[in-house]
Amino acid sequence: MSKFWSENTKRLQPYVPGEQPKFSNLVKLNTNENPFAPSPLVLQAMHDVVNGDLRLYPDPNADNFKQTVADYYGLQKSQVFVGNGSDEVLAHAFAAFFQGKQQLLMPDISYSFYPVYCQLYDVKPRVIPLDAQFAINSADYTGAVAGVIFPNPNAPTGCILPLAMIEKILQANPDCVVLVDEAYIDFGGVSAVKLIADYPNLLVVQTLSKSRSLAGMRVGLALGQAALIEGLERVKNSFNSYPLDRVAQAAAIAAFKDDGYFRSTCKKVIDNRIWLTKQLRQLGFEVLPSYANFVFACHVEKAAEEIAVFLRQHGVVVRHFQQARIDNFLRISIGTVEQQQRLITVLKELLMK
Ligand SMILES: *Cc1c(COP(=O)(O)O)cnc(C)c1O
Repeated sequence: MSKFWSENTKRLQPYVPGEQPKFSNLVKLNTNENPFAPSPLVLQAMHDVVNGDLRLYPDPNADNFKQTVADYYGLQKSQVFVGNGSDEVLAHAFAAFFQGKQQLLMPDISYSFYPVYCQLYDVKPRVIPLDAQFAINSADYTGAVAGVIFPNPNAPTGCILPLAMIEKILQANPDCVVLVDEAYIDFGGVSAVKLIADYPNLLVVQTLSKSRSLAGMRVGLALGQAALIEGLERVKNSFNSYPLDRVAQAAAIAAFKDDGYFRSTCKKVIDNRIWLTKQLRQLGFEVLPSYANFVFACHVEKAAEEIAVFLRQHGVVVRHFQQARIDNFLRISIGTVEQQQRLITVLKELLMK
């Protein structure tokens, strides 16, 4: 605490990201990064723009990247917004649509950055409990004033909400923005992008950090009707004209163009998820059905915290949340075959002795 801080700064409780260890021999399954490297074409595109032109500012509107995304999804360029990671895109959405308002509806178990942005942008959340199976019940999402926000698939549960249920939420809240955070949609879900034409209140947010292996480049995007995107542009151009640097724009374009690589790595993650789920169940874990690049699992006997500590001591990092309802669960990111085998070997040491 310092006398120099504003009242708002004193009140903040910042988001705490998962550990990024400084040594590399760990099996890192704690922050849902992609276990596979970016496409070779992405790395080549990045190399190609590392030259004297870096003295020049990047395209402030990232027009080529926006057009690439628009073509990919069959949208207009005016329906695409891009930012420095989807966390920044989410922040601008809070400022553009929710700031200063009451009744932002969100699940009780969800992405823990949302309550942080509520504090930063003076938004009053109304937290709605997931049901006993950790599913969103769309009928609970009525009476929003600021808007509605949830990840689909949800994090950290991995559960998916079918598009028909998302439509019910959109129809029940026509006068505010319903933000669907699709950070994990490419691992087996169906995107709500196809609903954009029918729903002026729908904003879909995506990231290149998970399914496109570019967490280190910080690229996120939002998709919606042009009026919503224009609102985001107003906020962005009041904050930072150049959120995406030249290298990031080149990487992002190439990541969307190399669709074959994208599909094959997503499939490998899904295959590894199936393997890991089966192995964990054999070891006495209850594993929620996951549509993401992680699983959410709870052991029938051993406490989650004890398991996490043991894994850490043996060089495997997973995520444990000290939060009501889920403090006996572990969120385990999908890794390579080798990483997952190491995890299972260490778990067997703990659970079968
Ligand atoms: C990882 C994640 C994000 C943030 O992604 P970045 O683009 O890396 O900022 C947003 N929402 C959810 C639900 C996530 O899990």
